[in-house]
Amino acid sequence: MLRNSLLYLSRQQRVFDFIRGNGFARRMASRFVAGETIEAACDAAAELNAHGIMATLDLLGESVTNEAEARETGRQYLELLDAINDRKLECNVSVKLTALGQDISDALCVEVVSEIIARAEQYDSFVRLDMEGSDYTQRTIDTFERDLYSHYPKRVGIVLQTALRRTLDDIERAIGIGARVRLCKGAYKESEDIAFPDKADVDRTYVQGMHRLMSRGQYPGLATHDEAIIEEAKRFARAENISPRRFEFQMLYGVRRDLQEALVADGWLVRVYIPFGTQWYPYLMRRLAERPANIAFMTGNIVREALSGSRNSSSTARHNGAH
Ligand SMILES: Cc1cc2nc3c(=O)[nH]c(=O)nc-3n(C[C@H](O)[C@H](O)[C@H](O)COP(=O)(O)OP(=O)(O)OC[C@H]3O[C@@H](n4cnc5c(N)ncnc54)[C@H](O)[C@@H]3O)c2cc1C
Repeated sequence: MLRNSLLYLSRQQRVFDFIRGNGFARRMASRFVAGETIEAACDAAAELNAHGIMATLDLLGESVTNEAEARETGRQYLELLDAINDRKLECNVSVKLTALGQDISDALCVEVVSEIIARAEQYDSFVRLDMEGSDYTQRTIDTFERDLYSHYPKRVGIVLQTALRRTLDDIERAIGIGARVRLCKGAYKESEDIAFPDKADVDRTYVQGMHRLMSRGQYPGLATHDEAIIEEAKRFARAENISPRRFEFQMLYGVRRDLQEALVADGWLVRVYIPFGTQWYPYLMRRLAERPANIAFMTGNIVREALSGSRNSSSTARHNGAH
């Protein structure tokens, strides 16, 4: 119920317009979002790198409705890749195709994202296409295979979500063509005819897909904070003699930092997904929907900080090393 309400609110632009001016909400966002600028995002990546953790940066923003916005987002990604290269960060980028014009035309989207991938190639970097709601699944896979992966096989990868019933087939297809997959459970609300209503099925499918990708896939990204699944990945790697260099664990900025550091200390590769930018509201609401206890957790932290006077309200959504 609360999850559905939060997911509903995540899609309300007017609520965001109201909330963005609100210092309290911006402070809540700062737990999960590195800041609003490229510099703040790179600072967050540098700090993680210093702890042996790799990063991927995501410029927040979902569907754009005109060409100029799509091109502007593309331009910002080029600037971001330049900054990552200048600062020699162990960091790649994640993009959402709807932010690059997918809802306007496939041709525009392919043109803009290809420019980003070409820049990533110049820097020996990598671009991950995030996966959005199921309306976009097939289109994203088609664009990926036909227009992007075919030209830049080493520079672009896709995301598959085990909440969807189709995903084990999609995994086989990705393995067949040698494409890099980030495996996640899926953050969007989907109907039962295409998605598993029971979390146990989502988790079971995750483990099945993970085994396949670890044994036969191309450097998969295992994106989860689920400790049981992470333990299973470690067990499977050891049992099957799969090198810890053949895959990476991926987690979200601000979530389970303890686990991220423990994995690195134990010799596993870890990459953290760092979102940044002004459009942080839908992202924040999805994170809260995943774990409503975060609302109480963050509220408690903010009140504690306010009482101790350790941070002033102008520090809100900018990253300041506080994770
Ligand atoms: C690197 C990365 C990239 C992603 N990319 C995409 C994408 O492209 N498309 C997409 O649909 N989804 C994406 N997701 C989100 C993903 O689909 C899940 O919604 C999210 O990761 C929660 O699922 P979980 O695997 O951690 O397992 P869950 O079963 O949801 O959680 C397992 C445990 O992890 C902890 N946890 C999980 N989420 C949170 C949180 N928000 N705050 C605090 N603790 C938490 C809790 O302790 C929980 O008990 C991505 C996730 C990661 C880590």
